[in-house]
Amino acid sequence: MNTREQQLASIAQEISACQRCSLYKAAANPVPGEGNPFADLVFIGEAPGYYEDQQGRPFVGQAGRLLEQSLASIGLSRKEVFISNVLHHRPPGNRDPLPEEVEACKGFMLRQLEIIQPKILSTLGRYAMNIFLPEAKISRDHGTIKHLKNFPFVIFPLYHPAAALRSGSVMTDFKKDFEKLGRLIKLEKGELIMKNKEQPKGAEPQIEQMELI
Ligand code: URA
Repeated sequence: MNTREQQLASIAQEISACQRCSLYKAAANPVPGEGNPFADLVFIGEAPGYYEDQQGRPFVGQAGRLLEQSLASIGLSRKEVFISNVLHHRPPGNRDPLPEEVEACKGFMLRQLEIIQPKILSTLGRYAMNIFLPEAKISRDHGTIKHLKNFPFVIFPLYHPAAALRSGSVMTDFKKDFEKLGRLIKLEKGELIMKNKEQPKGAEPQIEQMELI
């Protein structure tokens, strides 16, 4: 059996040869994602931007700096987590991902999650969030804790750090959500407890909503 490092390297190899959509044509480099193969916490962003495309690494521009500062504020470094994206080649001019590009590419990220088996998945922005929670709205659901029946981790949606850099009120929410993420990590270490929020009566829910106590 290959090690997690080998399995992730093999996905990176597949991404670098991928022609499932046309984004590879204009991209300078593939951006497969990077970090700790044993991370308890994984971040999934949207797609590489200019600097990520140049360097072949996720979140190395301004949004990445904010992510690193926020991680430091809860006592973590980027080496301790794993960071990836929905798309692994840069959309030209940083345009939004197209639905067919998301469909073509998201399997790589889902396989990375299967290998890493994190306890917490933090989605950055609506594209990553909507893969797991298609009905969710970022303005309503950021900073809430969800558990999906089919996934062995909790999902903690965050605003995209680039959105936080554009708006003071989003930045305030982003920072508050990060503080909550810090508390959620303690919970995973057994220092806090979480309970199910009251569920609506009726059919068995596919998504459990949870809160910190
Ligand atoms: N924005 C993203 O969504 N991903 C990156 O890797 C960089 C910026």
